[in-house]
Amino acid sequence: MHLARFPRLRFAHLPTPLEPMENLSRLLGGPNLWVKRDDCTGLAGGGNKTRKLEFLIADAQAKGADTIITQGAVQSNHARQTAAISARMGYDCHLLLENRTGSEDPDFLSNGNVLLDEIFGASLHDFPAGTDMNAEMQTLADSLEDQGRKPYIIPGGGSNRIGALGYANAAYELNGQCNDLGLKVDRIVHGTGSTGTQAGLIAGLTAIHSGIGVLGISVRAPKQAQEENVYRLAQETAAYIGSASALSRHDIVANSDYVGAGYGLPTDGMIEAVELTARHESILLDPVYSGKAMAGLIDLVRQGEFKAGENVVFIHTGGSQALFGYPSLFGKRETD
Ligand SMILES: *Cc1c(COP(=O)(O)O)cnc(C)c1O
Repeated sequence: MHLARFPRLRFAHLPTPLEPMENLSRLLGGPNLWVKRDDCTGLAGGGNKTRKLEFLIADAQAKGADTIITQGAVQSNHARQTAAISARMGYDCHLLLENRTGSEDPDFLSNGNVLLDEIFGASLHDFPAGTDMNAEMQTLADSLEDQGRKPYIIPGGGSNRIGALGYANAAYELNGQCNDLGLKVDRIVHGTGSTGTQAGLIAGLTAIHSGIGVLGISVRAPKQAQEENVYRLAQETAAYIGSASALSRHDIVANSDYVGAGYGLPTDGMIEAVELTARHESILLDPVYSGKAMAGLIDLVRQGEFKAGENVVFIHTGGSQALFGYPSLFGKRETD
């Protein structure tokens, strides 16, 4: 696949490292666990949205935008990374933030990613849970256009076929690293939400016939809905990069057993995963995405889903900045 056909800006620190998690692998006693450090993409603390934004911001630039509008949850990592790149580009940035959990904890509302959004100079707009965020973005765009601005709307999570190109590219990058290391990968595991990461990965991996399976651990939607959503965007992305024929519905696998009570609401497994990964690998996960994804991976290893000797790559999609929005979850418990 020749991704150089698509406009792209270069601000991510790539390739991100691919590292063994020897301590966690030994502790859990199952497959060999590896981590692809997409928490180290370099922009504003990093995370998976940076790869998508390289393509999305290039598109905004090509369209003559001077203002970026996007939306997400209050502690959105996507919003933080969008605020950061907008600052560098000299664009105004409007972040529409939905309080999906209804939390009124002052740390949740103004620390963590929210604090960083403000430091990057973004304008924040707050909405209650259940708001039609796409409609709100359009309303804001219309009024900015009336004022002579050129707004560019990025969908939540940067998840459309343009943003997903960032993860088609990540698929090639990871595949190349594994070939260089002689590492035969049996499964890739990561957190899946707005779907661009999994859809882009699968579009990229199938385009090069990698044969590597991807398991998305859902942080919000039930399995069937998540898989359908990923499939739709994976097909669009595959068509966009010119390889639609290779993709099958069977390639899309999501597991929604680790969502708990809902998006952004803590689970015991998430807290254990964040603490275990910090204490054994010195890696910080986050409470909403990578912590629940790792909770799923740990539980599946314990259940014997993967065989000893298999190689599993966990894509660390970032988000540790959100830890500071949830300080009461950690550090106050007996863990031994
Ligand atoms: C957005 C996000 C995800 C999910 O990626 P999608 O492309 O939205 O499915 C996973 N982890 C972190 C830390 C995120 O910010």
